[in-house]
Amino acid sequence: MIYAITQLSYIVATALFIFSLHWMSDPKTARWGVYSGVAGMLIAIVATWVQPEIIIHHGWIIVAIAAGFAVGIPLSQVPLTAVPQRTALSHAFGGLAAGLVGTAEYFLWLGGEHENITTFRMIAVIVEIVLGYLTFTGSLMAAGKLQGIKWIPQRPVTYSLQNVSNIGLIVVTLVLGTALVMNPLTGWSATVFMVIIGLSLLFGVLLILPIGGADMPTVISILNSYAGLSAVAMGFVLNNKLLITAGALDGASGLILSIIMCKAMNRSFVNVLFGAFGQVQETKKEGEEERVYKSETPEGVAHILEHASLVVIIPGYGMAVSQAQHKVRELYDQLKKRGITVKFAIHPVAGRMPGHMNVLLAEANIPYTDLVEMDEINSDMPQCDVALVIGANDVVNPAARYDKSSPIYGMPIIDADKAKTVFAIKRSKNPGFAGIENELYFLDKTWMLFGDAKAVMGDLVKQLSGANSSH
Ligand code: NAP
Repeated sequence: MIYAITQLSYIVATALFIFSLHWMSDPKTARWGVYSGVAGMLIAIVATWVQPEIIIHHGWIIVAIAAGFAVGIPLSQVPLTAVPQRTALSHAFGGLAAGLVGTAEYFLWLGGEHENITTFRMIAVIVEIVLGYLTFTGSLMAAGKLQGIKWIPQRPVTYSLQNVSNIGLIVVTLVLGTALVMNPLTGWSATVFMVIIGLSLLFGVLLILPIGGADMPTVISILNSYAGLSAVAMGFVLNNKLLITAGALDGASGLILSIIMCKAMNRSFVNVLFGAFGQVQETKKEGEEERVYKSETPEGVAHILEHASLVVIIPGYGMAVSQAQHKVRELYDQLKKRGITVKFAIHPVAGRMPGHMNVLLAEANIPYTDLVEMDEINSDMPQCDVALVIGANDVVNPAARYDKSSPIYGMPIIDADKAKTVFAIKRSKNPGFAGIENELYFLDKTWMLFGDAKAVMGDLVKQLSGANSSH
């Protein structure tokens, strides 16, 4: 009876996880996505806990749940800009859990439960520990790079024969894994098992070293799918169907997300994993004159904005860093008050995670109807009087269209350069994520507003509200 209830609960939990993913794909239903995910997980835990096999370790389960809360609550309170590294930490814990469960299970088998060893389960346990432990160190490295931890290099670290040695490491791991599957109970089996764990931990670090800090969101999503696959393998090891279905959903969604991100950046998986993207390029060659930017004052920009009919705001990573979204909302209100049409151009990979701009603008209560996807807004750009670029760089770089030598060549962009006038807000002359100069900033029609996005937006709003009250 209890078995039947558990299996039924697992089906309900799986259905809730599927609904969760479905609802998450739209901002209007995203909250339901979160609720159904939480409900699914709660059902999964309770249904597993009440199983008759779990009779002696209730105290440990309570300790584990308390530890989860102690780590999870502070993690849930990080700012939105830190969500990618927070997510990486979750994957690290997931990978470590899978690895430890696989290790414990194997040593139980070695310690006497020999009848549980089959070739299939041995393969599953090897897959589980390899993916689990490499996800653990890989995700920790990814989180460290994103958090800007000093002793983890942000830029891609490359050395000669890097790919060859990494592939060599995989081959050695595979050979050892195969030997262990064929001889799971010999005198050296436990040692080989521990060596495989060590190589997997090392491989996680080496996998992330050549990847630039800025490619981390995509890599985190790939690690998400590894963690999911490791959970699938754990499901086979423990003979638990819910782990198999939930792990498969996790693995597939991580993979799909990585593919979406790669497509939006016009890059391949191989390029993300081995491309060493984000190395700063030499923008000024020897003897070459430094190019000059034209600047404008908030007063001058406010004046031109007031006389526009269509203003397109293009937000990027800088808006997220400075948390300028509420000031952006005030500017939006000021312009709307004057009957000006204001649209937000949303690039699929603006910021550092998919949907980053949507979430920030929703937080500032900007109507969804004024958020326009890249493909749709681009046809309006030639009619746009002012394109206001707020902390966006790569996603408006026209070099993506024509410069075959550029690392962002082929990435679809928002056509800010087709607007009649462009104002771009950023703090300095530094490049964006791809480490390259932006042609947009040097066009005749472009003026820069140097400064922190929030401060500059505050000045603009002040100018406009002053002008409004004097009318
Ligand atoms: P970006 O190319 O990283 O440029 C952001 C700009 O914001 C920088 O030029 C920076 O210039 C400026 N900035 C930073 N802090 C600021 C502040 N406080 N105030 C004002 N400006 C500030 O950003 P993006 O145009 O949004 O492009 C996103 C990039 O990330 C793309 O290349 C994309 O491929 C990549 N990426 C995105 C995702 C994703 O899922 N969204 C995933 C992986 C990779 P200053 O330093 O001079 O201020």
